[in-house]
Amino acid sequence: MTAILSNLQAVKRAVTEASIAAGRPRDAVHLLAVSKTFPAEAVREAYQAGQTAFGENYLQEALDKIGALRDLPLEWHFIGPIQSNKTRAIAEHFDWVHGVDRLKVAERLSAQRPESMPPLNICLQVNVSGEASKSGVAPQEVLQLAGEVVRLPRLKLRGLMAIPAPVDDPLLQRAPFVQMRELLAVLNAQGMQMDTLSMGMSHDFAVAIQEGATIVRVGTAIFGARNYGGEQ
Ligand SMILES: *Cc1c(COP(=O)(O)O)cnc(C)c1O
Repeated sequence: MTAILSNLQAVKRAVTEASIAAGRPRDAVHLLAVSKTFPAEAVREAYQAGQTAFGENYLQEALDKIGALRDLPLEWHFIGPIQSNKTRAIAEHFDWVHGVDRLKVAERLSAQRPESMPPLNICLQVNVSGEASKSGVAPQEVLQLAGEVVRLPRLKLRGLMAIPAPVDDPLLQRAPFVQMRELLAVLNAQGMQMDTLSMGMSHDFAVAIQEGATIVRVGTAIFGARNYGGEQ
C-alpha cells in the first residue's frame, strides 16, 4: 500500500469518527485534499484511492496540474490569497474559491466566469480571532460583504472559510471554530442560505468537525510534509 493511499484512508476514518462523535451524519464533512507543492502524479494517486476534490494555493502551479490531469473528473478548489489580476484564470479553471474577502475580487470572478460553466462556488474568508494570515474580512463586516456577493449572477455564495493560527492546545483551537459556527448562524438568520463552513487542517480538523466544519482542508496528513524550497 502506498503512503498516500494509507494516509488518505486514515484521514477519512478520522473524519468519519469525528463526525459520528459530534453527533453529525457520517457524510456531513467533505474532505478537500490540499495538494499544493506536490506533483500531478501525487494527485493522480490520491484520485486512484478515491479522492476527487483537491485544493491548491498557487495559481501557476495549479494550472499546470489541472492541465496534466484533464483526463480525470476532479473538483478543483482555489484556497490561496487572490490577486485581482489572477481572477480570470481562477474563474475559468476552478469549481470553488475559498479566500474571497473583498467585493472587487468577487465582482471580477463573477464577470469572468464563463457562461458555459456552472456558477462558481464561493466562501468568504473571515479574519477570526487568531487568524494566521492577514487576509479575511472582519467578522462585523461579513454580513455586508455577503449581501453584496450573493447578488452577483455567476457566483454561488456557499459559506465561510477561516485559517486560524496553528496552536496545539485543543481548548485554544476551539474558539475560532465556535466563532465561525456562530457567525454562519447569524448570517443565515439574516436571510443568507449558506451551507458551508470551510475550516480545519491536518492538526485541528477533528475540533473543527466538532464545531460544524463541512469542508476540512487537509494537506500534510495526506501527502506528507511540504518542501517549501521550490515554492513561488
Ligand atoms: C496549506 C493549506 C492547508 C493544508 O494545511 P495542512 O496543515 O498541510 O493540512 C489548508 N488550508 C489552506 C488555506 C492552506 O493554505
